Amino acid sequence: MRLAQAAQQPRWQDDDVADRVVETLRNAPPLASVSETRRLQEQLAHVARGEAFLLQGGDCAETFSGNTESHLRSNIRLMLQMAVVLTYGASMPVVKVGRLAGQFAKPRSAETDAAGLPCYRGDMINGIEGTALARRHDPARMLQAYNHASSAMNLLRSMTAHRVTGLHEVHGWTKDFVRTSGAGPRYEAFTENIDRALRFVDAFDVDLDGPRANEIYCSHEALVLDYERALTRRAESAWYDSSAHFLWIGDRTRQLDGAHIAFAGELANPLGVKIGPSAAPEQVAEYVDRLSPQNIPGHLTLICRMGSTRIRDLLPPIIEKVSATGKHVIWQSDPMHGNTITSKQGLKTRQFDRVVDEVLGFFEVHDRLGTHPGGIHLEFTGEDVTECVGGAQNLTEADLPGRYESACDPRLNSHQSLELAFLVAEMLRN
Ligand code: PEP
Ligand code: MN
Repeated sequence: MRLAQAAQQPRWQDDDVADRVVETLRNAPPLASVSETRRLQEQLAHVARGEAFLLQGGDCAETFSGNTESHLRSNIRLMLQMAVVLTYGASMPVVKVGRLAGQFAKPRSAETDAAGLPCYRGDMINGIEGTALARRHDPARMLQAYNHASSAMNLLRSMTAHRVTGLHEVHGWTKDFVRTSGAGPRYEAFTENIDRALRFVDAFDVDLDGPRANEIYCSHEALVLDYERALTRRAESAWYDSSAHFLWIGDRTRQLDGAHIAFAGELANPLGVKIGPSAAPEQVAEYVDRLSPQNIPGHLTLICRMGSTRIRDLLPPIIEKVSATGKHVIWQSDPMHGNTITSKQGLKTRQFDRVVDEVLGFFEVHDRLGTHPGGIHLEFTGEDVTECVGGAQNLTEADLPGRYESACDPRLNSHQSLELAFLVAEMLRN
């Protein structure tokens, strides 16, 4: 049998060290437990049936130095805030999945950067500093990635388990945003309605601050197969990749005969595949066949990232083809990756309006075809970075250098993210 080719893999500087690291990871405790992963799978089944909405998001690339309490807390807090707004808009539970605790490896379009050095491929593989030494592919970084993921998971569990963040507190933060943001007046009525709904439920003495409201699962791109395979465990007659609850295959590694699709096809974890503009409807139907042979609702999410100008044309034939197979999938919109442009200063950025327009196109297509617009997949951070332009703060290209911190793609900041959550909540209501 011909072994499937694995695209975008590191070329480790030392194979013996790589073997030792893999052996250590093989024996390391799981980061995501099987019971948690199965619980997420059950919640995603509701999304596939049109009874819940999926919010997934976080950094494009997590970094080791950025794996701090304040950064994690701000991203988690923002995700919880967005979820309250979306829950109200959708009148449905919102399943929350972070790009968190393992999003340390990046696929790249080019081998080398402008300076002729090997590209930065994420902290799991090499360093971002512009030196030949930093850019070597160091296998010991897989172990560091595991340790950083483990400490991130620990903070996340403590925030979830001990009710540190209840629904009322989360909504309180959003009210602060509405009071101070330029977009505030537009969302005042919406926020007051949420307030009233919370008081209504309070009157019945229902405990809204229980664990469900702030339950967040972890996900990352399953890119570095040495890392993902080493953390895959046999449990309950199935294979679970214990590096995260949810794994997705990127647009650059979704070759049907490639190693990533073959690997994902063996897993019981809920999975995603990024569907870019080059994906043909027949090819997408093949992913559904290969990755969801048992047709379990919620097992497979198709993450559509066509770009705002193409989504309305490219998505319908794909949905029609998949719907004709009778298989259950979650349709999710990633309005970030098809809308990346380069600013005059040479910084990667995205225009807020185009991001909104891609989500709108995604909703329009589902509305027309009678399918469920199941969720959104975003790159955001709770910090006030200046990486995407537009939004109520009206960030311009001239503002970008002010606080541009992403190690890879431009993220929505907290204002832009909450504004998007309000806009998507309105789309869900209409
Ligand atoms: C990403 O999600 O950061 C990414 C690289 O996406 P895509 O595979 O869709 O380009
Ligand atoms: Mn990205």
